[in-house]
Amino acid sequence: MSKTAKSWAMLHAKCPRCRRGAMFSGGIYNFGSNKIFDRCPHCNLYYEIEPGYFYAAMYVSYALNVMEGLLIVALTYFITQNSTSPWLYIGTILTGLLVLSPINFRYSRVLLLYWLSPKINYQPHLDKDDSTANH
Ligand SMILES: [Zn+2]
Repeated sequence: MSKTAKSWAMLHAKCPRCRRGAMFSGGIYNFGSNKIFDRCPHCNLYYEIEPGYFYAAMYVSYALNVMEGLLIVALTYFITQNSTSPWLYIGTILTGLLVLSPINFRYSRVLLLYWLSPKINYQPHLDKDDSTANH
C-alpha cells in the first residue's frame, strides 16, 4: 500500500490528516465554488479546528502576497529593464496579485493546516481507500 507524498498532497490541496480527501470544492479558478469543505470527505476531519481559525490564513496570505509582489517586481524589471516608472510596477503588482488571489486563498489555508497546525498530524492509517473504517 503506497503512502501519499506530503508535497503531492499539499499541491493538490488534500486533507492534511489523511492526504486523500479534498479540502476545496470546485477548481482553483472556478469562481463561486472555490470553497473549503467543513469536513474532510475522506476521514471526516473538521478543518476549522477552532472558531475563526481561518482568520490566521490571512497572515499566511499576506506573506504569500509580499513574496509574490517581490517576485513580480523582479520579473518586471528583468523583462522591461524599466527603473523610472512606478506605475508600471504598481500595475503589474496589482494585476499579478489579482490573478494569483485564488491560489493565495487556497494555499494560505493549505499552509496553515500543514505547517502551522500542530494539532493536525498525518495519520497513515487513514491514508487508504477504505474511508469508512475510522469515523
Ligand atoms: Zn482527511
